Amino acid sequence: MKKIFKTFIIMILALVVCIPMQTIAKASTVTNMDSKKDVVVSKPWTVSFNKVLSTTTVNTTNIKVLSQDGNYIDIKVSLENNNKNVVVQPVKDYEYNKTYTLIVTDQVKSSDGKFLPSEVRMNFTTKSEPAKSEPTKPSEFTVCIDPGQYYSVIKGSSGIKAKDINLSTALKLGSILKARGFNVVYTRTTDSVAWTQSGEDDAKALIAKNANANVFLSINTNDSDVNTANGIETYYTTGLSKNKTLATFVQAELIKATQAKDRGIQVGSTTILNKTSCPSIVTYLGFLSNPAEQSLLISAQYQNNAAKAIANGLMNYAGFANTDTTYDNTLKISSIPDITGSVTVGGTYTLPKTVTAIMSNGSKQTVSVSWLKSVATSVVGSTTYYGTVVGAVINAKADITVKAAPTTSKYKVVLDPGHGGYDSGAVGPTGVMEKTVNLAIALKVGAVLTKNNVETIYTRNSDKVSWTSNVTQNLQAICDISNNAKPNYFVSIHANSADAVSASGTETYTYAGSAASSKLAQAIQTNIVNATGSTDRGIRTANYYVIKNTDATAVLVETGFISNSAQEKLLNNAAYQTKVANAIAKGILNTLGITSITY
Ligand SMILES: [Zn+2]
Repeated sequence: MKKIFKTFIIMILALVVCIPMQTIAKASTVTNMDSKKDVVVSKPWTVSFNKVLSTTTVNTTNIKVLSQDGNYIDIKVSLENNNKNVVVQPVKDYEYNKTYTLIVTDQVKSSDGKFLPSEVRMNFTTKSEPAKSEPTKPSEFTVCIDPGQYYSVIKGSSGIKAKDINLSTALKLGSILKARGFNVVYTRTTDSVAWTQSGEDDAKALIAKNANANVFLSINTNDSDVNTANGIETYYTTGLSKNKTLATFVQAELIKATQAKDRGIQVGSTTILNKTSCPSIVTYLGFLSNPAEQSLLISAQYQNNAAKAIANGLMNYAGFANTDTTYDNTLKISSIPDITGSVTVGGTYTLPKTVTAIMSNGSKQTVSVSWLKSVATSVVGSTTYYGTVVGAVINAKADITVKAAPTTSKYKVVLDPGHGGYDSGAVGPTGVMEKTVNLAIALKVGAVLTKNNVETIYTRNSDKVSWTSNVTQNLQAICDISNNAKPNYFVSIHANSADAVSASGTETYTYAGSAASSKLAQAIQTNIVNATGSTDRGIRTANYYVIKNTDATAVLVETGFISNSAQEKLLNNAAYQTKVANAIAKGILNTLGITSITY
């Protein structure tokens, strides 16, 4: 114990004067040091150790200041002198003529792992409040301006952020105050801060305290789920009577300057209001969630009026003579909402002769616009057009998209994959079902037709059928699909079957007497034979129901014999199916007059 005592001790310094600790009783758990009197209310204590400290043990849990009411007060602890000194600073000034206790617990360690031998306490009493002379002119008055909401995510529908409006207005206020001779200090002047979100209020309060600020003015922008909420409000706390006076003067001038809805002064619970040592207010200049107020808050005219109002309110509060109390209430255009539109390539789009402008008091007004160019519609794409409005420094803007003409198919073909559902069609020696082969080929034909801008309709596009198992109704249902669609062609796709297992080859049927059908049948037949080498069994006529009862030029193709084991194998092969499908598609497209084909 003795050894530890000798190797790790504490001293409390008054600034640079070292007062070495006299004794630490060996057995006691708390060592009280001599108390101090007449301590200034902003006093930073420097606690000096004879060893380098373990920095993680230097925190506000292990080092504390207790008020005489038994509350721990907000302090900031920082390291100095190569981590041998700890500076203990109150966030807010100590109160006058009160006794506090500085506590360093025995949990503070040296960097080589030694605990402080005992907790050390030191009482100190602050000075009595001096008879203060109030500032009589701006040069004796310091204003701390706080552009609020740095960490807030509040933004308007235009994307503008609350923190940026606050900064812009705060800088305008600072310029006005400086021009009137005030001393001005800001909590921030850019979109960057040295503090974390949790340390924000302490950091701001210290900036005001270190500058000996006479007032702290926080500038903020409001937000609401209700987008009609509007107006200005100012918050204060009852801690200092001057808080309410300051809020009253500033709020009154803000309403006079902006003619916004007066939401009044309100007692607030904002932490910063309880941390500052001087009179302080938090004012909200309008609602970013309200589109009309958003336009105002963005405008230089509104920001200038608000900044000047805060400056005037401050001068009224301080009792300084003020000769410049007028506001710029001329109605100006503050924003013009963008126009968006679209037009089909080659079409006509006429930009409007008038647009609705948002005025500086939030009202809307119809104004004439002269567009610099008319909309060109010859090329697909988006273009921004600008227009001028008399009396406005901002332009009207129109984003116009020229869209491609919708591709309309010139031709339509109905594909009928034979059988399906309950009806397997013919079945090959190894069990390959005709309905499956027909569907696979038909879907491949349709894919090619679609690629070549031919609208394709299927009587079925899966194994599910839309008709009943009654044969006549079934075949008529297929014809109805085609007749309702009114296609150029109806092509029914089947595979053949015969008792003679050697039967093989391809044949295409038409209903007797249709020249157009014969031409289509021949094209399909020739292309399949050429593409696959299948035996050419020629084009034939038959009274098959689906080619007899369809209105369109109709054919039925028997792609091959599924009853022939060699052909069954081919018909069940995806690559062979593609060959057949491409050949059928080519026959259809060629007959439609399309010779340049995309597969
Ligand atoms: Zn069939």
